Amino acid sequence: MEEASCKEYQELMKDRKSSAGPLPSKMSMDVTFLGTGAAYPSPTRGASATVVRFEGECWLFDCGEGTQTQFMKSNLKAGRITKIFITHLHGDHFFGLPGLLCTISLQGCPSTNKLPVDIYGPLGLRSFLQRTMELSHSQLSFPYIVHELVPTPEQCPAEEWKEPSSVDTGEVSSPEAHGKTIYLDPVEDSYTLVDNKQFLMKAFRLFHRIPSFGFLVEEKPRAGKLNTQKLKELGVQPGPLYGKLKEGIAVVLENGTTISPLEVLEDPLPGRKVCILGDCSGTVGGGAATLCYEADLLVHEATLDDTQADKAREHGHSTPKVAAEFAKRCQVRRLVLSHFSQRYKPAGQIGEGDVEVTELKRQAESVLDGQEVVLAEDFMTLSVPMRKQT
Ligand SMILES: [Zn+2]
Ligand SMILES: [Zn+2]
Repeated sequence: MEEASCKEYQELMKDRKSSAGPLPSKMSMDVTFLGTGAAYPSPTRGASATVVRFEGECWLFDCGEGTQTQFMKSNLKAGRITKIFITHLHGDHFFGLPGLLCTISLQGCPSTNKLPVDIYGPLGLRSFLQRTMELSHSQLSFPYIVHELVPTPEQCPAEEWKEPSSVDTGEVSSPEAHGKTIYLDPVEDSYTLVDNKQFLMKAFRLFHRIPSFGFLVEEKPRAGKLNTQKLKELGVQPGPLYGKLKEGIAVVLENGTTISPLEVLEDPLPGRKVCILGDCSGTVGGGAATLCYEADLLVHEATLDDTQADKAREHGHSTPKVAAEFAKRCQVRRLVLSHFSQRYKPAGQIGEGDVEVTELKRQAESVLDGQEVVLAEDFMTLSVPMRKQT
């Protein structure tokens, strides 16, 4: 192990630990597309992989074959991943996972204190990883924990449905801590994955050839600014009392007056919302539309263009029209189309007989009322700006 890579690993661990600390005053959130192609990776489009960076953490959504080399070509570091989310168990969404984990392990430093990587995905994913690691005699330098989502029969055609009891859940001896088994909350029509002070992450049901999920990342609202003019008038001196009020704690002045945070705090800042959907020809139940409502960014697949709508539906996929109708229903601010059939080449890379992807943008725009439509391309990063006070 080279010394440099050990240092890098220690830096990473420091970053990962500090991300659990207090909120930084300025928080950036961005989304990077590492793979925007359907079915298989090609020189112009990698297989599905999307990265959300927030709170100093790096979260990977889907990990198609070749994701690790896409990371290397980008300015992101795979070693910074703390959570991985797999939308469904078609190969173009998770065949890259064992290789990526092994490479992160090779690049790490075995002597340092390690934090686990949390992996969320459909039932069967734990068994897949355990068996792959066992068969290849791969030993990771860090622990990983797989949390499995239990799908429902409505998420795929009846002939494709496998009863959860028949899915090999891989209850074998394993050094990995056993993750959670997460069931649908029938009232909310969603799966709660993470709920802490800073953010909420949920999954919701989609319809595809096999059960597929979408994921929500929602930032919690943050305390508004202190009204310093008002504080001055009330006789509160800058110092520790400011901090307490900002945290929402009432303070008592020396003269016995109680100051409530409500008197001196401006309105809270609303949190941002990013939704990333797996392959689908539609949603199941009301969970998806509720959770995606007014999302800042909605990433939706559009495998084929609107002229191929029947074929798309038959294969459990969407066209720009389907994506835009959902975006319109949810009143999202920005719609990003991704997971394009490899026939749709990025603009400027058109060869003979190729179809340009820009037609798909036009098709989505014709449904929407002026909301922005973005065509995802490999290595594109979109920042999600802070919301204004409402
Ligand atoms: Zn796919
Ligand atoms: Zn699929």
